[in-house]
Amino acid sequence: MTLDWQDGLPFSSHFGDVYFSADSGLEESDHVFLQANRLAERFAALSAGESFTVGETGFGTGLNFLSTLRLFERTAPPGASLDFFSVEKFPLKDDDLRAALALWPELAADAETLLARWRRRVPGWNHWSFGRVRLTLVIADVAEALPQLPENAVDAWFLDGFSPAKNPEMWGEQALTAIARASRAGATISTYTSAGWVRRGLLQAGFDVARAPGFGFKREMLSGHLSVHRTDNQKCCTPRTALVIGGGIAGCATAHALAARGVQVTLLERAPRLASAASGNPRGILHARFGAGMSALHRFVLASYGHALALLDEALPTDGELRDECGLLQLKCNEAEQKRITKLARIEWPAHLMQFVDAAQASQLAGMQMVHGGLWFPGGGWVVPPALCARLADNDRIELRLAHKVESLARTDTGWRAIGEGWAVEAEIAVVCCAQSALALEPFENFPLTPVRGQISLLPATAASSSLNAVVCGDGYCAPAVGGMHVSGATHAFDDEALDVRSADHADNLAKLAAFAPTLREALGKIDMEGLDGRASVRCSAPGAMPLVGEVQRGLYCSLAHGTRGLLTAGLAAEVIAAQACGQLPPLPAAVLSALSPRSRVKNTLI
Ligand code: SAM
Repeated sequence: MTLDWQDGLPFSSHFGDVYFSADSGLEESDHVFLQANRLAERFAALSAGESFTVGETGFGTGLNFLSTLRLFERTAPPGASLDFFSVEKFPLKDDDLRAALALWPELAADAETLLARWRRRVPGWNHWSFGRVRLTLVIADVAEALPQLPENAVDAWFLDGFSPAKNPEMWGEQALTAIARASRAGATISTYTSAGWVRRGLLQAGFDVARAPGFGFKREMLSGHLSVHRTDNQKCCTPRTALVIGGGIAGCATAHALAARGVQVTLLERAPRLASAASGNPRGILHARFGAGMSALHRFVLASYGHALALLDEALPTDGELRDECGLLQLKCNEAEQKRITKLARIEWPAHLMQFVDAAQASQLAGMQMVHGGLWFPGGGWVVPPALCARLADNDRIELRLAHKVESLARTDTGWRAIGEGWAVEAEIAVVCCAQSALALEPFENFPLTPVRGQISLLPATAASSSLNAVVCGDGYCAPAVGGMHVSGATHAFDDEALDVRSADHADNLAKLAAFAPTLREALGKIDMEGLDGRASVRCSAPGAMPLVGEVQRGLYCSLAHGTRGLLTAGLAAEVIAAQACGQLPPLPAAVLSALSPRSRVKNTLI
């Protein structure tokens, strides 16, 4: 949405209303939302390990979010954390958000972080961290987003849609009922409006609301609390300790997400170093592939892509050595891709996420002739996965135990015990992130995990191939040369766990490359398959290519079957597990959580 300005304030011509009051947006936000919900005293009353959840309708310029973040940092004790959930149907453009936030120099530092995350936004669910404050921003209509929240999740609500008279759907029965359903016992609510029908709607939905003095020239506003009975679920349940089994990207990301919540983690890896299996390739690509139908898997992939880019911005900023945001092309190289991309083109997508390009534009972006057009992902590129794993695991709260192969996993009175040869470690919770090796552990023996061998080829760059400056993907991929080598891949061989590097697999990778990017294949010149370097590893896959993420039994979780997408999906999967383990707001909609859940997909997990 394009922002208009009226008397120096952001204004929406679409709704004919201002984003905040002319008197002082920041003071108004404080009066109407922070004070009316008694946030200062409620934040101060939290204890270490406890979290609080604010829900908002209408993210707008993020002013309420930033002022809540500031208040939390000033009042909440160490070890407490905040989830801020907000919905926005018409997200502002980057420059408009920057211009609107420039009105508040006192919020400048956090505003910069918000702007950095903002350029990673994707349609649907976004989940970004601001230290101990997490923002879950859903870019969708409230009618679609609010019913996807869990029950009993939100402690305080800010109703901040444009004026009810100008935007009635946002204040209707459906939205208010979903808000009440997602509220915890005693949840509070406030809004700047005092419209009688909004008040009646809130009463009807189960809130006890009254008129209160408004801010500035507004005489009255509404505030209140949930009056219907609700059994309070246990709030403070951040475990003190966790075992994470597996030191690939899934395990390192999970350890990182738990440590960020104050959990002391023991990370157990059977190899003598991290990232020694499927996460050990010298380079991996950030390849978000989804279709217009937006299945649960595709919604997960899209949300994971936005999350992964924001996580990488924090953990491994682009430097051309360990990560490069060089952009990525998905080429319409066969009938299936042609169909998928043509259907996607019927939907409007933000240009910072992806653009539709013809063969001439694709050639310009790639730095070399492409015979197909397709999709351009400006934020795509490549990463050195072992470097990312090392950064994620580098935390005072994570104790690494390398060369520790877990032979069995047993429940104890207080949690879980991992047992290896001559050692045992216990913790309150355990998270299994060791791909198909999980099958050897009793709680996972029924899991539908399939090993899939994949080989990459390291192709010596030539003067001609060195002009490639973006990752190109078709039925396979090839990355720009670094240190004189292109990484190209990868083969898929189901139920093959051998790690030998095969010339036949190199030939397979090169044949695919020749089919989707013939000029690049030619530029590489004559290649001796026997002399090529490469690496084979085994990824783990589950039916429908849907990872298995979530609670398996009480206190036992898993992040498995990320297939070829672990670099993208492991980070958000880790947030799902950490939120479940700590009783916090989930970062994904209920429908996607259910599709990921081992409990809904594997027999005998409900113990
Ligand atoms: N809380 C904001 C802030 O701190 O800047 C101001 C919110 S502004 C008054 C209202 C917001 O609601 C606008 O950004 C608008 O795009 C959004 N909105 C309007 N209708 C919506 C709908 N049906 N679903 C989700 N968001 C909507």
